[in-house]
Amino acid sequence: MSGMIRTVLGDIAPEELGVCDAHDHLFIGSPALPGQELDDPDAALAELKAFAALGGRAVVQWTPWGMGSRTERLPALSRQSGVHIVSATGMHQAKHYDPGELERRHDGLADLFIRELTAAPVRAGMIKVAGAYHRLDGHARHVMAAAAEAHHATDAPIGVHLEAGTAALDVLDLLCGTHGVAPHRVILGHLHRFPDTRIHRQAAEAGAFLAFDGPSRVHHGTDWRLLDSLSALADAGHAQQILLGADTVTPSARSDADGPGMPFLLSGLRPRIERELGRDLASAIFAGNPARAFAVRWRRP
Ligand SMILES: [Zn+2]
Repeated sequence: MSGMIRTVLGDIAPEELGVCDAHDHLFIGSPALPGQELDDPDAALAELKAFAALGGRAVVQWTPWGMGSRTERLPALSRQSGVHIVSATGMHQAKHYDPGELERRHDGLADLFIRELTAAPVRAGMIKVAGAYHRLDGHARHVMAAAAEAHHATDAPIGVHLEAGTAALDVLDLLCGTHGVAPHRVILGHLHRFPDTRIHRQAAEAGAFLAFDGPSRVHHGTDWRLLDSLSALADAGHAQQILLGADTVTPSARSDADGPGMPFLLSGLRPRIERELGRDLASAIFAGNPARAFAVRWRRP
């Protein structure tokens, strides 16, 4: 395996990553979701320790720029829990930001992303962007163009929030077709929310990584389709492109509250995946695949 994974404590070899929650959040906040912020470092540490107690060794925080990622807190949390943490730059949908702030940042996004990947005190290891429901709006296209530019400057992977799991193929058309990003550098997120196995297969055939995430959020009506989606992809020969994350975004979704939280990936889902799809596939999903998805041939330190 080549490349290095950029964690909040420095770059590591992909082989060091271990069992990974490939899409989650320790800190996140949005004006669109008042009162639901994840902003408590003690609670974040408790969740990391609960994940680590089950063998979890790495968490990728997909919180982009400007949404309360508290990156300055992440190195200490990583040290205290023994869990590798990869943080993100990038930008979410416009509704998650103050409009004036968005306007001020409009022309300098690629530089902002590159700075967070290569020159910040705690550097990011991926770029997060977001689509809209069944389409890409002007904001999404602008941010994705900047993300592609930052990718070409650094080789960092681009993780995509697909709104309700939709518009996956439009995203690949834009990032890979228009902007020349290699498909294996794109991680499509939230696919479990739109369990259309034909679209999943097309995205996999194009070469992208497919992230299924969200079991931490209670009441997702599509959760019960997860094993079907994974086995359809595995049967079609795409087991090496599957990632799994808990995507905890509210305090109530954590394991010390109402949700299954990060530990559920390992206590609830992993045994089922091992039983129904085999241990080799489970090992690929939890360790081998994220190691390749987040390994970067950094073009800048
Ligand atoms: Zn997320």
